[in-house]
Amino acid sequence: MPLRFYNTLTLKVEPFAPADGKIVRMYTCGPTVYNYAHIGNLRTFAFEDVLRRWLLARGFAMKHVMNITDVDDKIIRNAGAKNQTIAEYTAEYTTAFEEDAAKLRLQRPEYMVKATEHIPEMVQAIEALTAKGYTYQSDGSVYYRISRFPEYGKLSHNDFSGIRAGARVDVDEYDKADARDFVLWKAPKGAEPFWDTPFGPGRPGWHIECSAMAMKYLGETLDIHAGGVDLIFPHHENEIAQSEGITCKPFARFWMHCEFLNVDSQKMSKSVGNIYTLRELMEMGHAPETVRYLLISVPYRKKLNFTFDGLQAAKTTIDRLRNFKMRLETAKFAAGVSEKLTERAATAVQSFEDSLDDDLNTAEALAAVFEYVRDANTAMDSGEFCAGNVAGAFDLLRRFDDIVDVLRPTVTETGLSDDQITLKIQERSAAKKVKNFALSDQIRGELLEAGVVLEDTKDGARWKRK
Ligand code: AMP
Ligand code: ZN
Repeated sequence: MPLRFYNTLTLKVEPFAPADGKIVRMYTCGPTVYNYAHIGNLRTFAFEDVLRRWLLARGFAMKHVMNITDVDDKIIRNAGAKNQTIAEYTAEYTTAFEEDAAKLRLQRPEYMVKATEHIPEMVQAIEALTAKGYTYQSDGSVYYRISRFPEYGKLSHNDFSGIRAGARVDVDEYDKADARDFVLWKAPKGAEPFWDTPFGPGRPGWHIECSAMAMKYLGETLDIHAGGVDLIFPHHENEIAQSEGITCKPFARFWMHCEFLNVDSQKMSKSVGNIYTLRELMEMGHAPETVRYLLISVPYRKKLNFTFDGLQAAKTTIDRLRNFKMRLETAKFAAGVSEKLTERAATAVQSFEDSLDDDLNTAEALAAVFEYVRDANTAMDSGEFCAGNVAGAFDLLRRFDDIVDVLRPTVTETGLSDDQITLKIQERSAAKKVKNFALSDQIRGELLEAGVVLEDTKDGARWKRK
């Protein structure tokens, strides 16, 4: 079966290849930098990371654009309250986002672009819409006339034909029930910061940002446009109305949306106040790759319920895989090869790849790897696993980690000195002597997290830094 993705536009799973057969032109809506990203936001970005890694693994090149929304109502309000410029206020959160993304091992898109650095492109887009009769002005702001775009509603599959023409909405986020002519350019209120344009002073609405930047870097028709499900309406619906209004061409061939990360069946969001940031979880002692694993272990179209038990389970799974890798690296296997295990590794690779081709079914892809690891461990215990099977096992782990990327432990910023490591190893052997294996495993895990690999030999434990 070919690579295929669910397309929100058609409500179908469809075979995917980029239009030119080579380069995937992908746009993903990035963070609004008015605060730290929470792990709900990060779930969507982690899904997009798996998507781009899998497209690369399938041999395509990527041209991936992510925007940074560094001007909006909340940013203007918060910057004003702190007596800062927009740029001063957003700098801290932009850096924080980049740090979180790096810790979570999100590959950096080819283009990370800021809204405030693309005002001329947005002005041009609004002028193009005006020239074609899609806009009108009211109280100094410019609005998009949705009745002028008969296909409005085609992405969210809503029928807006009965909507009252001329009713307007000034905020960027609103409900289907409040579908109205939306704002492209907002007149400043009071002492708010503004840009001068031929159609008056003001600042861009959120939706025009993405249309203008996506088309600047990726052309009129993208291969993939992605984001969280909450962006389907109004944000992506409005992007289609704007871009297709200008070009009369399909704006994106595939629309992909990641389901929510929930807490107790409620969307994790700043307004509900049920959020965790990556840094909070790290302060509690969780490694970023544990969070990464948890976020990507549930297929992106299913809701993910966040719990600390789930986080713990993710850690246990990673530890099991790391221990398996270490066993491969350090154990002595009999010469020769078991054909059965060679075959077993090949089926695991096949099943891992088939599952990701199937609309990124990460749960099944991961299951294929664990089942193999379980069988291989059993075969090692019984002496059936041979030296000739090591390469096949490594090959599977490499393919797994090219996408999942959790095997390398994050080296803690403090690190451990050689003396501290020796001390921990002594503690561990003492624990083993009294058969406190829970403690000895815990110490081994802590060392691994600090980038120290242990090897038990008959002369005691040896260690090396990763
Ligand atoms: P924002 O910074 O609010 O613009 O959101 C950044 C991204 O996170 C968008 O693609 C949202 O759709 C997504 N997002 C927000 N909340 C959640 C959540 N609880 N679970 C998954 N994705 C989310
Ligand atoms: Zn966007």
